Amino acid sequence: MINVLFAATEQRWTEYRAPLTEAFAARDLAVDLRTDFPPEAVDYIVYAPNSPVQDFTPYTRCKAVLNLWAGVEAIVGNQTLTRPLCRMVDHGLTRGMVEWVTGHALRHHLHIDHFLAHQDGDWDAAKLVPPLAEERPVTVLGLGELGAACAQALAQLGFPVTGWSRSPKDIEGLTCLSGPEGLAQALSTAQILVLLLPLTAETTDLMDATRLAQLPRGAVILNPGRGPLIVDEALLAALDAGHLRHATLDVFRTEPLPAAHPFWAHPQVTVCPHIASETRPLTASRIIAENVARGETGAPFLFLVDRSQGY
Ligand code: NDP
Repeated sequence: MINVLFAATEQRWTEYRAPLTEAFAARDLAVDLRTDFPPEAVDYIVYAPNSPVQDFTPYTRCKAVLNLWAGVEAIVGNQTLTRPLCRMVDHGLTRGMVEWVTGHALRHHLHIDHFLAHQDGDWDAAKLVPPLAEERPVTVLGLGELGAACAQALAQLGFPVTGWSRSPKDIEGLTCLSGPEGLAQALSTAQILVLLLPLTAETTDLMDATRLAQLPRGAVILNPGRGPLIVDEALLAALDAGHLRHATLDVFRTEPLPAAHPFWAHPQVTVCPHIASETRPLTASRIIAENVARGETGAPFLFLVDRSQGY
């Protein structure tokens, strides 16, 4: 029997219990799935970083920790975790993010807010013809599972898309840049900037006043990545100065975003409550079962986190 500890919130247990049980059965894995085991009996931990399990020392026979989230910044530095850590890559998570990013990009590209503000019978005041997508360069920072999928979807709509990543890439339909020298170039053309970077020591505060100033005047930012990728005060200053047109933010330094935070009341900021994309239990359970099957046969785990890089 393979003992799998489910270490996440009660609500997640309600959502995941049945699909995980089914996914293990579909792989012919004899699994005992529970929310409580003696730590020394646990073979795998299905994990959410907001679970009460924070000290992994007693889990002496654990073969891997399988994260339910794509982002691992809250667990990657945990010194008690010495076992392999896998992050979540899930069809539902990717497709949800593609829909969120394309939807919000099209809102700003088509000036939908302008038409909502001109419903008063003044035909001429309402008249604003947006450019074609092919005339509106977009930049996506981060070309991983989510960033690459979003960049390709935007390119398919006709936007000229530049992507930026740590290592050089060659992705059909995209201009791919990398490294510090590529960033200034990627920002300089970005009428819409999408942030899909993980939060690491290198990416924290990446979009500070200097980098925001490198964006073209009137640029729009979409941040479904992580809040600390942007310096809040610098973003507010760039919006107030008229340098940026709008920021649509899904993630924040403090979540929930405090009621007194200036983002809530700012007319050029859209606050979303970290809903850009969710791990979907049905598809995510299959990934977890696949990784348990791999662990049992000694095959390499999927989506292993590189601790030295922090993601
Ligand atoms: P991946 O790990 O697949 O991709 C990360 C990308 O960022 C890679 O292209 C990587 O480059 C690049 N990158 C990392 N560090 C740097 C750096 N220092 N300089 C330049 N590029 C860098 O992650 P995902 O695409 O799966 O997810 C991205 C993030 O999205 C998650 O970490 C999470 O924070 C966020 N997220 C938000 C959700 C929401 O609902 N708001 C839902 C899910 C995820 P390289 O390819 O060279 O390694």
